[in-house]
Amino acid sequence: CFCQLQGRIDDCSCNVDTVDHFNNVKVYPRLRSLLTKNYFRFYKVNLKHDCPFWTDDSRCAMKYCHVEACQEEDIPPGLKGGAKSPKLMADHGAEKYSESANCNDDYNDELGYLNTTISAKAEEDFALWTAHDAQDNFCDVNENDSDAEYVDLLLNPERYTGYRGKSAHRIWHSIYMENCFRPQNSYSSYIHSDLLNGMCLEKRAFYRAISGLHASINIHLCAKYLLSESSGISLTSPKGEWGPNLEEFKSRFSPDNTIGEGPNWLRNLYFLYLLEIRALAKASPYLQREEFYTGDEAQDWDTQLAVKDLLSVIKKFPDHFNESIMFSGGTEANKMKYEFKQHFRNITRIMDCVGCDKCKLWGKLQIQGLGTALKILFSGKFDQEYTAPYLQNKHKKDFQLERTEIVSLINSIGRLSTSIYELDEFRLMLR
Ligand code: FAD
Repeated sequence: CFCQLQGRIDDCSCNVDTVDHFNNVKVYPRLRSLLTKNYFRFYKVNLKHDCPFWTDDSRCAMKYCHVEACQEEDIPPGLKGGAKSPKLMADHGAEKYSESANCNDDYNDELGYLNTTISAKAEEDFALWTAHDAQDNFCDVNENDSDAEYVDLLLNPERYTGYRGKSAHRIWHSIYMENCFRPQNSYSSYIHSDLLNGMCLEKRAFYRAISGLHASINIHLCAKYLLSESSGISLTSPKGEWGPNLEEFKSRFSPDNTIGEGPNWLRNLYFLYLLEIRALAKASPYLQREEFYTGDEAQDWDTQLAVKDLLSVIKKFPDHFNESIMFSGGTEANKMKYEFKQHFRNITRIMDCVGCDKCKLWGKLQIQGLGTALKILFSGKFDQEYTAPYLQNKHKKDFQLERTEIVSLINSIGRLSTSIYELDEFRLMLR
């Protein structure tokens, strides 16, 4: 079977079947349950931003692209800001609540960074960047965005929406051609795996991560394909029967149909999974202390236990992605990190151009989740194992993740974990 991948996962120290077992038996069931908890279920997102790169795309009219709004009364009081966590108030100070950290005020705004390609004045920008030294974030995180709204992720599952054609291709094309690093003289939107070996590890990793995310999104739409429509569909709550579509899966990932790259795209999914799992392991001392506050004491306690249980499983799995060998080696490495970050930030902004709200919701969430993983891995702020007394010193804010970062990271890992699980289901069907 073409999707029965064998051997080591590229740029990691682990075999595919080891990950399959670890994920399908240990991680997937835990995440599945954890992600139904209120803390992780409600995600605050702005789906109304204009596309900063082009204006000629019409919005998707497909009914399955619609995002169902959250009823005000469904949102837990602790998330609405009505009730404050006493522990957080004591830990972080009241000012966190009066004026949340606005990461929009950093570099992007100062430079008016609007191009889809990396700017020609990169040297100048880089100098400014190092001078500012405030570039931990790979995404703009603004919890106080007045246009952001809570979305109930369980009400709006990621699945087939019918979004395709020119608009979807323009997004992927722009990501791969203009915002991924590329080998010289390669003109197709995908990069043939042979060419990847001629690129440095950081550039390969960037491409593999995006390709892994793309593979994951496409696996979901195959696994939750629209099999039949019911009559009486309304725009706001379309009904239908959703389930796996093996032919769709084969047409996307079989080497016979996809210039031979399908299985490599699946391998990239495993790469991304290991990268995000490593970030979770690295942030686990921090996450173990989180309150996961929603205002419902019993549920918050449950969530804390479920997170600790997940983290204990993750910590027992050896790290197979080694971030310490990336971006090491002085100014050149720093420059590479800077470019890496700018490319990634551009991709976060391209998400505002996605012409299907449901796809945009999950695209934004997963890109933010990946951005959070990169921040944990590469900002240096999570490198030290810190202990409780250390947390209490003046650096405690350095270790802070916004709620939305935690929610997007865990949900993103949930998406990747589900993809790996669904891949196994497809394997069984193919047998
Ligand atoms: P596409 O998936 O559009 O791919 C374009 C080209 O990229 C391919 O021809 C191939 O050369 C290359 N390629 C394909 N896969 C990979 C890979 N893994 N790595 C590297 N290169 C690759 N549709 C839904 O039904 N539900 C969703 O939730 C959804 N979410 C989306 C989110 C985003 C951010 C985007 C941009 C699109 C989303 N879509 C979604 C659309 C979906 O991803 C496809 O674009 C669409 O189904 C059309 O598929 P396609 O076969 O034409 O190839």
